[in-house]
Amino acid sequence: MAAEAKTVHSAVVTYASMLSLLSLCPPFVILLWYTMVHADGSIGQTWDYLRQNGLQGFIDIWPRPTVIAWKIIFCYGAFEAALQLLLPGKRVEGPISPAGNRPIYKANGLAAFAVTLITYLGLWWYGIFNPTIVYDHLGEIFSALIFGSFIFCIFLYLKGHLAPSSSDSGSCGNLIIDFYWGMELYPRIGKNFDIKVFTNCRFGMMSWAVLAVTYCIKQYELNGRVADSMLVSTILMLVYVTKFFWWEAGYWNTMDIAHDRAGFYICWGCLVWVPSIYTSPGMYLVNHPVDLGTQLAIYILVAGILCIYINYDCDRQRQEFRRTNGKCTVWGKSPSKILASYTTTSGETKSSLLLTSGWWGLARHFHYVPEILSAFFWTVPALFNHVLPYFYVVFLTILLFDRAKRDDDRCRSKYGKYWKLYCQRVPYKIIPGIY
Ligand code: NDP
Repeated sequence: MAAEAKTVHSAVVTYASMLSLLSLCPPFVILLWYTMVHADGSIGQTWDYLRQNGLQGFIDIWPRPTVIAWKIIFCYGAFEAALQLLLPGKRVEGPISPAGNRPIYKANGLAAFAVTLITYLGLWWYGIFNPTIVYDHLGEIFSALIFGSFIFCIFLYLKGHLAPSSSDSGSCGNLIIDFYWGMELYPRIGKNFDIKVFTNCRFGMMSWAVLAVTYCIKQYELNGRVADSMLVSTILMLVYVTKFFWWEAGYWNTMDIAHDRAGFYICWGCLVWVPSIYTSPGMYLVNHPVDLGTQLAIYILVAGILCIYINYDCDRQRQEFRRTNGKCTVWGKSPSKILASYTTTSGETKSSLLLTSGWWGLARHFHYVPEILSAFFWTVPALFNHVLPYFYVVFLTILLFDRAKRDDDRCRSKYGKYWKLYCQRVPYKIIPGIY
């Protein structure tokens, strides 16, 4: 862990971010839900309520986790875990880990995604389970997730100490940093059940699609129709999540899986923050059925799909380049590249290729631009009556700018002079010509 710990933030930043995550994020999740569902999406209304009622008022609006909330979470989690374990899928090798291991995965994400949505809609269609129940108990569900995920992170910490799954694990000697940044890179239950694939993909990302559909159904139940704004926003979110599962094996090569250890930062984020915050534009639209008109709706839809496609193509280009060892074409030409060598934590020397043309020649993290714009396009159907629906876009921008820095720092310490050369060839971090 020591080598990896150097590449994340310093202890001071870790303490500050952990403290704020622990103390600010849970109440924020509840306040955001309360504002969207009970205060007309208006920060002013919630603010007035809190000013009048103080801390007791806040305690009063914090829903207690109820039995029905736990049941919904448990059934959903167990269903997703079963799909992860049982659905067939291609055997996929993950990237070489810092300790020189190569984790093996089963690529059945797209099948799990299809089965989940078909089952959910089927349950609704045949009157077995009404998704509006999820919306009606959303606050209790988020509350249960907040506490349940914290306990889950304690389990991850203990497992990291007592029964690590691979040599990509270990303590940095500081309990808080171990808990926060995680101890194991790819913890497993048994040989095959990968915990991070479950938390990040099958629970977190899947819940995004499930809740987007839930919000649509709730609006339909309330108004007898689904407004075009809700349709555009939901379609864009579903296209994005479909793209995610289509490319899930590629996701296993990204920082979340290949570099970030399973701790509070990543797992709590995927288990609580993704279902509550990432889905929030849809949550807002339930009670705000804006009519955009066909033309504007189509413009937003096309722009959003284009951004999602470009983001996908950036990821695809990098992965195709790595998979073929640079023997591919990038924008119709043979790619320009840097052959970089590095040393693993076990002291082995390995080499890797850095792509310096195509999207990856525009800026070192250009793919974050279409990612942020996609989020903007599935939020903008809410128009501009309230700022709160835009919280996710603002949060994502901060997250990705921080991530670009974290990734640059990590790559600099991994590749040394080769990364310096990459920075000379591709000087911009995210926005070509600007930043
Ligand atoms: P990347 O896919 O950008 O992966 C970064 C890694 O790629 C680096 O650590 C390095 O790893 C390798 N790399 C860097 N530059 C090059 C290059 N020029 N050529 C080849 N390999 C290179 O990381 P992310 O995980 O940040 O993004 C993955 C996707 O997830 C993106 O689409 C992003 O937008 C999305 N995302 C979405 C978030 C959300 O909350 N909505 C949050 C974060 C990401 P190595 O050690 O292998 O060299």
